Amino acid sequence: MSELILVLDAGTTSTRAMLFARDGALQAVAQRELTQHYPQPGWVEHDAGEIWDRTLACAREVVDQAGGGERIAAIGITNQRETVVAWDRTSGDPLHRAIVWQDRRTAPFCTQLRDAGHEAEVQQRTGLLLDPYFSATKMRWLLDHSEAVAGAAQRGTLAFGTVESWLVFKLSGGEHVSDASNASRTLLLPLDGAQFDPGLCDLFGVPQSALPRVCDSHGALATCAQEWFAAPIPICGLAGDQQSATIGQGCLDPGETKATYGTGAFVLTNMGEAIPHSSHRLLGTVLMQQGGVRHYALEGSVFVAGSLIQWLRDSLGFIVSAGESEALARSIPDSGGVIIVPALSGLGAPHWRAEARGVIAGLSFASGKPQIVRAALEAMAHQTADLATAFAADGAPWGLLRIDGGMSANDWMAQDLSDMLALEVERPDFVETTALGAAMLAGVGCGMFASLGEAAKAMRGRVRRFTPAMADDVRQERLARWRKALAAA
Ligand code: ADP
Repeated sequence: MSELILVLDAGTTSTRAMLFARDGALQAVAQRELTQHYPQPGWVEHDAGEIWDRTLACAREVVDQAGGGERIAAIGITNQRETVVAWDRTSGDPLHRAIVWQDRRTAPFCTQLRDAGHEAEVQQRTGLLLDPYFSATKMRWLLDHSEAVAGAAQRGTLAFGTVESWLVFKLSGGEHVSDASNASRTLLLPLDGAQFDPGLCDLFGVPQSALPRVCDSHGALATCAQEWFAAPIPICGLAGDQQSATIGQGCLDPGETKATYGTGAFVLTNMGEAIPHSSHRLLGTVLMQQGGVRHYALEGSVFVAGSLIQWLRDSLGFIVSAGESEALARSIPDSGGVIIVPALSGLGAPHWRAEARGVIAGLSFASGKPQIVRAALEAMAHQTADLATAFAADGAPWGLLRIDGGMSANDWMAQDLSDMLALEVERPDFVETTALGAAMLAGVGCGMFASLGEAAKAMRGRVRRFTPAMADDVRQERLARWRKALAAA
């Protein structure tokens, strides 16, 4: 049997194809940028045709390097979540630009639904909140504002899907499925329902006939048409990016938690087969589905993480590279009382204050670049500490935190996280955990591994541990100053 796994990682800013060996070794990578369209303030669109063309080009590049399609055992796909693609089933062509997860255009519709008193029931059933972030209101917008989409709906040829669904449709030549982890981000899938729900579809005004069939996260999910890679490669793993990273971090048992620090920060705790119900404004989501059985996660999303460092670099010119923040933080014993609340685009979990704005508190004449840069890095631990409190209050305390994402390369920040959370923090040497999770799913789905546990043992490499070393009074004093500054935001 061929032993290479092809992962397609269709992200927000770029799409990639990666080739993994059975032992987790990365054999080849191809990457293409995606064009970001901003037609109005707060609107973000992608060209779904471009996502497909560039993903296929990347895939063909690495399949050629592998020596042809027959060398590939299976394909795993992971993707930017919540983004909505509308296409015509007959032609296979997009009907409108894809509306991206960051897009805020449906805020008024969300407010209208919230004012009408629907949020509690929606949250109870789907684990989500009435926020433009999720897919259903974007689908409704397309039906209301695009003649092409409305026309296809009338003819009965409209297909909606998230990005993995779109890619599977194109690869397979017509299979219309969505894996449960992606489907659980739409507001249309009850956490305990096998398929999209007619009542929820009615509430958001989305025709159920346009939606994909909800399928497992691994197994024989679809097969690639011969024309793409000259071989009928099976598609055996599908997962939204954050769920995939959770699996790639080996968080396979209840209570195990990962935090990804990229542009924003996303924390997920495995909740096993118990449906999570948060009383602290965290999200309940499907982690994965196998043989129709679901595993769930509790999720906390923070909007601003690495983008704060980018802002210090690009808008303020305090640093030349993101990596420089580490040496500056180390050059001083503390931030000299400076605290930053990074609410530059509002506050996410557990506060959910869209109107909040950033604060820099505790400035004195002794405050310079190093103090402000250090305070920016310290803000990551402060935000994560608030999430830790919310997760614990929801019955999901963390025993260990596994970190990844571009920012996790910062050793000083990793140690500060460990210190401020009073927790062991673990970072894998191979930080591409999102792609690795999709490779693990595909590996199990094609029978290369008997279980995800076996896949994790074979494919996950070494990790580095950070151990808490901060005095409790120092930690408490910093958290007290953080809470004061937070109130001002
Ligand atoms: P995304 O996947 O969201 O595009 P990445 O995981 O690639 O993000 O992480 C990039 C972010 O991490 C950038 O915002 C950058 O400012 C930040 N970053 C990268 N390296 C470091 C570092 N050594 N210290 C602090 N921040 C960093």
